[in-house]
This record gives sequence, C-alpha cells and structure tokens, in this order.
Amino acid sequence: MLKKILISACLLGQPVRYNGRGLLLEDEVLDRWRAARMLVPLCPEIAAGFPVPRPPAEIQPFKNGLDVMAGSARVVENTGRDVTESFVLGTQIAVKLALTNGCRFALLADGSPSCGSSFIYSGNHDGETRSGIGAVTAALQEQGVEVFAEHQIMDLAGRLTA
Ligand code: SF4
Repeated sequence: MLKKILISACLLGQPVRYNGRGLLLEDEVLDRWRAARMLVPLCPEIAAGFPVPRPPAEIQPFKNGLDVMAGSARVVENTGRDVTESFVLGTQIAVKLALTNGCRFALLADGSPSCGSSFIYSGNHDGETRSGIGAVTAALQEQGVEVFAEHQIMDLAGRLTA
C-alpha cells in the first residue's frame, strides 16, 4: 500500500509562513515522494484562516503543543493577541486530513508553534528557542502518526523502507 506523508506546505516552497515566505526543502528523496504522489501538503495555520503575512505566534513559556491541545496553554502573537483557538482549529484540520489520507508519517517544519517537533520558540518573542513540540505534532503523535522534522528526512526514508 502507498505510504502517505503529511507534509508542511512551506517545506514544498509554498509561501505560507508568517513572513510570507516558504521554507523549501530541496532533497531528491522528497522529489521522489512527490512524483510518487505520497505527499499530503497542508499549512494548518492557513487552513485555520490566518493570512499571509501574519504576526509571529509562540506558545506561552514553559508550555508546549500538548498543553495547547489540553487547554492549559495559550498561543500568543507578538502583538499580544491570543490566537489559541485558531491554532487548535488548524490542528484539528491537520489531524483529520492525516487520518482521512491514511498518513502514518508526517514531515513537519521545525520550530513552529504548530509544526515544531524538536524545538519551538521561548514564548517571550525574544528569538530564543527551547526543546518542545507544536500543537499539530502533539495531536498527530497522540494518533500514532510518526512526526519527523525536515532535518530528519533520511530517518523518515528509513522508516518507510522498514
Ligand atoms: Fe504552515 Fe506549519 Fe509551515 Fe508554519 S511551519 S507555515 S504552520 S506549514
């Protein structure tokens, strides 16, 4: 059976990030997956209705995506606007898309309050990072989807052939 991979749309170069840019991942493995129609692209934040560009948002200090989905942490833009509800909505859309398409794997852009899987930003909008996961990663992992960051693409390739 074809193995499907949910992928952050920005990693395919789509200009959906807060700053209006993409985060193109140039890799021939990715090109092969794309040609084989294994990729299911999504930007959860765009799906939730955020515009491009948009103010950067961070999960509040000392919390992570699990806390956001549990209702015990907020996601806040650098303007001070609380955007938690929209992040939860985007996450729900991502999980639904992954499950509908039978995605057991995801390749997500690290550092994002949605897609981060090894690090996220501090929550103080000071440019500092910390270990942690975003809301989409947390919710996908709860559903048994294996999440890889872009720098782990070869690990994902290994899992697909296992
Ligand atoms: Fe969208 Fe995720 Fe990329 Fe952020 S990291 S732009 S939420 S796909």
